[in-house]
Amino acid sequence: MVQRERVAENVYSFQSEVYAQVTAGAVIGPSWAVVIDTLALPEETLSIRDFIEQELQVPVRYVIDTHYHADHSWGNCFFPGATVIAHRLCREWLDMRSRAALEEARHHTLEYRSVKIVLPHLTFDRGNMSLRVGKKTLSMMPLPGHSGDNIGVMVEEDRVLFAGDVFMPLPYIVDGDIEDMIASLKLISKLGLENVVQGHGDIVLRGEVEGAVKDNLNYLSAIRKAVRKASRRKYPWDLLEEVDVESCGKSRVLIGGLAEDLHRQNLRALFEQLYGKPPASSEDEYGNGHR
Ligand SMILES: [Zn+2]
Repeated sequence: MVQRERVAENVYSFQSEVYAQVTAGAVIGPSWAVVIDTLALPEETLSIRDFIEQELQVPVRYVIDTHYHADHSWGNCFFPGATVIAHRLCREWLDMRSRAALEEARHHTLEYRSVKIVLPHLTFDRGNMSLRVGKKTLSMMPLPGHSGDNIGVMVEEDRVLFAGDVFMPLPYIVDGDIEDMIASLKLISKLGLENVVQGHGDIVLRGEVEGAVKDNLNYLSAIRKAVRKASRRKYPWDLLEEVDVESCGKSRVLIGGLAEDLHRQNLRALFEQLYGKPPASSEDEYGNGHR
């Protein structure tokens, strides 16, 4: 249910086979380890913990949350002895938003009954924060865009970046900001990376990073163009309905087939962020007898 990959010496990534190809990571030191994100389901989190603590025989001392979304941070509670590190906003939003979301999720997903929201103990806001693990230096840096609290974790010596969700096969900006994402992607392309572990999807290798960044920037400019064009129509939605993910340069099979759905959400969110709520469609309006 969880695929494991060795990215560099003592650096691992994990990918869910059950939920949206979400990823996590681990950096193993001589006497303790760091986990980066916790996957979607308790069973998956526990399989990561077992691998580190039973097979490799080191305790997890730190958990870094790349952002507050459930599939990255709800496993914090399965590392009760660990110090959780995140952006200040991640702590704030886990506190303000995630408790209600968890309550709701418990109704339809029994597994979540064993989950408790654990707030980060150690937070930062601007600049970088470093953590030394054996011979490796982890640099944490804000990379907003997918969400305002997203951070990346770079293993300096290996030039491996755990990017969180600012880097995905299809950019997703519904809870974020398109300008922030563009800036973060441009920053990532300048870091001289060997590998990017995306928040969802497969690892991006050195030779592919530049192309993947460009692809994502092109997608973002395509949706912005579509939304701008739609804003000049009386019923923007009639136009946006026709703008599918492929016409914006991305395949619909990405992220386990979720791409088209995420793309629809992007268009709606971007429109509302830039122009406010549109009338749903001409049909709706006729149907409601407004004309
Ligand atoms: Zn996310």
